[in-house]
Amino acid sequence: MKLILLGAPGAGKGTQAEIISEKYNIPTISTGNMIRAALKNGTEMGLKAKSYIDAGALVPDEVVIGIVKERLNEDDCKNGFILDGFPRTIPQAEALDNMGVEIDAALSIEVADSEIVKRMSGRRVCLACGASYHTEYKKPLKDGICNVCSAELSIRKDDEPETVLNRLNVYHEQTEPLKDYYRAAGKLITVEGQEEVKDTTALTLAALSEI
Ligand code: ADP
Ligand code: ZN
Repeated sequence: MKLILLGAPGAGKGTQAEIISEKYNIPTISTGNMIRAALKNGTEMGLKAKSYIDAGALVPDEVVIGIVKERLNEDDCKNGFILDGFPRTIPQAEALDNMGVEIDAALSIEVADSEIVKRMSGRRVCLACGASYHTEYKKPLKDGICNVCSAELSIRKDDEPETVLNRLNVYHEQTEPLKDYYRAAGKLITVEGQEEVKDTTALTLAALSEI
């Protein structure tokens, strides 16, 4: 299965991606995680991306397109993949088409802006392995510690309230038009994000079983 996950920042794409990834045994390609890893490792790309990420802006298309193209060529993508956080602009979607990638579906997780702002304030991430948690909705087994790799959890700098509002604006202006793009291609599926992760998961898996 080749799947794109769409949705506002904090809509729960990453969480659903982890679950689908395990169930269908396909890798998740998270551009956000890849860029953060580059940043942490101090690569040239990471340094270039930093100012954009910190401001809640998008990293330039050509940078992201380059890293996705490289990643999709790796062996583990042969049987399918989940794109989490890519494409985020129409030019990125067109670039994906031009790579000859035919997706099965673009699944959009719909969550109201007011709910997003509430959720982002509780978000915690593991900078070591990329796993994400929430202080209320998705608690780690041990407070402040990653279930997967036992590293200490952090608050992402771009999850600060003002930056979150920026990211929401960017989402509405640049990413939401992708819903029309994939609707026109007959690929769009929408799921209403629920308060409980397991309820959203049930809707997601039901929707995917039909494609
Ligand atoms: P979220 O988990 O909130 O959806 P991500 O972790 O996917 O956010 O992305 C964090 C930041 O990384 C974005 O605000 C943006 O600066 C950058 N980024 C990630 N994916 C892309 C992309 N496809 N195009 C441009 N910038 C991106
Ligand atoms: Zn971890």
